[in-house]
Amino acid sequence: MKIEAMITTPEKNFEKQTLNLTEPQAGEVLVRLVASGVCHTDATVLDKTIPVPPPVVLGHEGSGIVEKVGENVTAVEPGDHVVLGFSYCGTCDNCLEGNAGGCENMIPLNFGGKNERGETPLSTEENEDVSQFFGQSSFATYTTVDEKNIVKVDKDVDLRYLGPFGCGFMTGSGTVLNAIEPEPGNGFVVFGTGAVGISGMLAAKVAGAYPIIAVDIHDSRLELAKELGATHIINSKNEDPVEKIKEITGGKGAHYTLETTGVPEVTLSALRSLRVKGICATVAVGKNDLSFNVFDEVVANSLTLRGVIEGDAVPQLIIPKLVTFFKNNQYPVDQLVRFYDLEDVDQAFADSADGSVIKPIVVIDKEYQA
Ligand SMILES: [Zn+2]
Ligand SMILES: [Zn+2]
Repeated sequence: MKIEAMITTPEKNFEKQTLNLTEPQAGEVLVRLVASGVCHTDATVLDKTIPVPPPVVLGHEGSGIVEKVGENVTAVEPGDHVVLGFSYCGTCDNCLEGNAGGCENMIPLNFGGKNERGETPLSTEENEDVSQFFGQSSFATYTTVDEKNIVKVDKDVDLRYLGPFGCGFMTGSGTVLNAIEPEPGNGFVVFGTGAVGISGMLAAKVAGAYPIIAVDIHDSRLELAKELGATHIINSKNEDPVEKIKEITGGKGAHYTLETTGVPEVTLSALRSLRVKGICATVAVGKNDLSFNVFDEVVANSLTLRGVIEGDAVPQLIIPKLVTFFKNNQYPVDQLVRFYDLEDVDQAFADSADGSVIKPIVVIDKEYQA
């Protein structure tokens, strides 16, 4: 079938083109996309930090409505509302242990441009292959995905908000709920109050963490963090965050820190803000070169520095949970969002890069009504 998509080449970030999309085969699902979030990982392909064979259709926070299912698909039927998650193999040790975020085939399946069968469902009108991204390529009117990329969600929620539940919001919240698991009364600090940081902070609030401290260099973001549940905010341009966190936590430091910035000094602050036996989870993608004395910074206080991908989550388990929090107003991520037309995707990336919008979402189906 013919679809409209935003295609990315080494020469041009985005160009609208008509492409061919294959019909769903066994175990696959055709989804009509309603919207897609814009994530930092898309930007790391544009700036070539992460190599993906060009040309490619980016976008990996899609939400939409099932149009058609291939043979043997049991999870969904046409008309179901779905969020698209990342690709995982389902058969490696980590997948079998319920840690799809740690899938051993994560990199080839999500960044290699091809699906499990070694094919891409996308091609140009001249029949040249176009890479599929994260198994979904959601900057398009339709996508054909594996059943494992599909998460069915309730029909009474505005689908336009739900795409980022498949990556950015899941990464922050899953890191908190699955990887570090704070208990009520545990001190929690988030470094960087972007989409990942704020969604992690909201999850820490649901878990009952206290205090909840947000650190950033933008006052406007810190104010929003406070409105959404931070008990303390620290602008690290004006104050030493480590000192201030020690002060807030009675001199001990926090049980958990979540590092989302990927800035080397910030990663070090996130370690130094911990109490003895504390855990720093870092989720930042990109170059973060850091040299430190491992004994002084980690061993001496029995600390853990933990890297987490996609929130250690199985999308099918965590996304419905987050949608329920969203419906109950415990997880007001709609306050982080600004909507754009798909044609304005360049602007959406620019607004994300300069920090003026926390989570841009491109709306693909303008007729959609919640
Ligand atoms: Zn796997
Ligand atoms: Zn992402």
